[in-house]
Amino acid sequence: MNAIFSAICLLSVTALAEDPLWPITEISGGLKAGAARIDITPEKPVKMSGYASRKDLSTGVHDPLSARVLAFEAGGRRLVLVSTDVIGFYEGTADYLRNALLGELGLQSSELFLTAIHTHAAPSLTINKERDHPNNVEYTEALKGKLIDVVRQALGGMQPAEIGLGVGACPVGANRRELRVGNDGKISIVLGRNPNGPTDKEVLVMKVARGDGRPVAVAFDYATHGTSLGPGNYTISGDVPGLAEQFVEKILGSEVVAPAFIGASGNIDPWFRVLPAFHEEPGWIPEPVLLGTFLGEEVVHVCRAIHAMTPAGKIATNLVTLHLPARSGNEVAADKPSRTMPFTISVARLGDVAFVGLGGEVLTEIGLAIKAGSPCPHTFVVTHCNGAAGYLAPKDLHVQEGYEVTSSRFAPQAAEIVIRESIRMLHDL
Ligand SMILES: [Zn+2]
Repeated sequence: MNAIFSAICLLSVTALAEDPLWPITEISGGLKAGAARIDITPEKPVKMSGYASRKDLSTGVHDPLSARVLAFEAGGRRLVLVSTDVIGFYEGTADYLRNALLGELGLQSSELFLTAIHTHAAPSLTINKERDHPNNVEYTEALKGKLIDVVRQALGGMQPAEIGLGVGACPVGANRRELRVGNDGKISIVLGRNPNGPTDKEVLVMKVARGDGRPVAVAFDYATHGTSLGPGNYTISGDVPGLAEQFVEKILGSEVVAPAFIGASGNIDPWFRVLPAFHEEPGWIPEPVLLGTFLGEEVVHVCRAIHAMTPAGKIATNLVTLHLPARSGNEVAADKPSRTMPFTISVARLGDVAFVGLGGEVLTEIGLAIKAGSPCPHTFVVTHCNGAAGYLAPKDLHVQEGYEVTSSRFAPQAAEIVIRESIRMLHDL
């Protein structure tokens, strides 16, 4: 009987496996993971991103830049998370780099999360030879090749793996929308520090380990800008998130890859910036190192407390480009916008872990709302992902204005659409 029963089972499985309608994404177990890192520190002086006032080329390197990849495969589906130590993929470079990666590696569009840590001490990316510095064009072209290499390495090194999640907290990120009353009694929002404003202190950590339990990657998600070096800095650095990555890898060993992902931090800066007196200190800039260490320490502590590991074997992904109502000039109440602006949302589920990739710089209230509505216990909100649409601010902040609102290209109602669609897409996976 047993032999007949086994034969029937075998036939059923074979029939199902050969049926193209069988939903292979539903197969549980069999998670594989691969991780890799590549140095992307510029070798020549470059224009740096993030401050319009900074006109000259970089003068040296404070700490190295890297691209880090964490790739998963299960049930025939892949999820490739790329964390790049640059500010973001502006000026058409998101499509330029993504198309190269998708074409070279045979990935589906929704399987790739190409993200930046938003350090303001890295080269600006550009493919515009007429307008921009040749060293930056050369850097961007070389980055394309390096990203292909490092993703290929991660995909090629796939092995059976398990994941575990942990949550910590870190006070480094501070709300920067400071309310100031002028001499004329007028109230305005300036870039400063607002201790009463909302922040997201969560440090979400995912440990990825192979059969022997040793971690091969520790990914973390935290919401802060990488701006502690400030506009007076001309040295290359990963700033707070990059220094946190470097710290985690230093403590856990260089065989562990520790990609940072940047949460909703459009209005969140590091708690303090470099003091002018330290600009002349050769080779040692304490503030970003302190803040990055603070964040990295918490990642390591959370990682060491993760003991429950699971083969979380189902991967599902989706990507859409929304056409959101555009902000019309400086008009606050753009209730009937005539134009739209594209905004890309990428979602993924790896077992019961959710990823929401947002192609812009969203304010922290939006990330908190997405986490609150997520169907999963742990949600990585990842900004600067697969696009660079600029600031996206919640509706009520449009009344206050302030830097993030007046430089946004989106109408007040756009944020609610992004929150709703992100949550809906997660539920639909
Ligand atoms: Zn920014």
